[in-house]
Amino acid sequence: MPYFGCHLSMSKGDLAMVRTAQSIGADTFAFFTRDPRGSRAKPKDPKDSAAAVEALREGGFGPLVAHGAYTMNLCTADPEARAFAAGILEEDLRRMAALPGQFYNFHPGCHVGQGVEAAVDQIAGALRQAMAHGYPVTVLLETMAGKGTEVGGTFQELKMILDAVGREDLGICLDTCHVYDGGYDIVADLDGVLAEFDRVIGLDKLKALHLNDSKNPFASHKDRHACIGQGSLGVDTFRLICRHPALADKPMILETPNELPGYQAEIQLLRSL
Ligand code: FE
Ligand code: FE
Ligand code: ZN
Repeated sequence: MPYFGCHLSMSKGDLAMVRTAQSIGADTFAFFTRDPRGSRAKPKDPKDSAAAVEALREGGFGPLVAHGAYTMNLCTADPEARAFAAGILEEDLRRMAALPGQFYNFHPGCHVGQGVEAAVDQIAGALRQAMAHGYPVTVLLETMAGKGTEVGGTFQELKMILDAVGREDLGICLDTCHVYDGGYDIVADLDGVLAEFDRVIGLDKLKALHLNDSKNPFASHKDRHACIGQGSLGVDTFRLICRHPALADKPMILETPNELPGYQAEIQLLRSL
């Protein structure tokens, strides 16, 4: 059985997130490491984090999947902005050390006209530098919808980054809305898409999933999330995903347009599939 959870607010600290997750039937969760649009990060309380680590263990949680800020673009064209983003990444990884052994997922970035190859070099350079500290966190690149100049809209682009970094503790988080919008038909042929992932990247690199239905049709490159069963993926696709043997032990995070009661209902739905 996969682990199921959703995005939670970290405004009340780490232990509060664990308790909230438990109250809605989740056994994993995601949180933004800082304000998703800004760059402020509240200092962490080591006692709170230590209590959360204990509660996660007692509660039988799967790996958490923290999310880097959307604004962190490691391959922006402006060198100063790029250095700033790289500093954010490094600080995020350092902060993740308070909850050792979890996942940190982020959007590879937008190359803004520089081209994919330059972007891959820049993203990989920032990752090598930040990860060289050896913080106890596995870093995940998110599969993207290929909107605008987004990098990571194809398995090949993600593989280029993995190869350029060359570290074991770097993997992939597969977002169901993004891959479908990006032109991988998980509705008609989930097995075929996973086989393609395995051929290009290797399924051993697939560490987590984001479960989102899509408001748009196949290959639309739009990236608009819908609630589970209310978009073009449909509940049958999620049944296949939740039961797939290759995905059985993965944390699966909802990023659907919901408040807590909606998330609770969706987690219940996913467990019933
Ligand atoms: Fe994301
Ligand atoms: Fe996502
Ligand atoms: Zn998205």
